[in-house]
Amino acid sequence: MSDAAPSKRWSLRGYDEEGNEVWLIRSFGRKLYRCPGCHGDIPIGSEHTVVQYVLRLGGTEHHHWHRRCVEELLIPDLRELKRVPATSSSQEKLEERGRRPPGRRRR
Ligand SMILES: [Zn+2]
Repeated sequence: MSDAAPSKRWSLRGYDEEGNEVWLIRSFGRKLYRCPGCHGDIPIGSEHTVVQYVLRLGGTEHHHWHRRCVEELLIPDLRELKRVPATSSSQEKLEERGRRPPGRRRR
């Protein structure tokens, strides 16, 4: 058992070294994805992790990863990783976050 795995109720959020938000969200594939961690296939319908970035300078991007690859390759580099309710990590809400202007830039 691992607290580091996103579930139906919980997603995870941390920050990468550039200060981008990194959200880890449980997902089931409706098509075949290729994991950027190991370049292997993620079979259709298998439980995996969506890694969604909300970029510090605006915008979002996401990739589909094997759960194990996230735990081994990505999580060790994330800061301040914590559980957040899965309801806060819907695609819509994260895209909305990505549209916000960067917090500290004011004119
Ligand atoms: Zn992988």
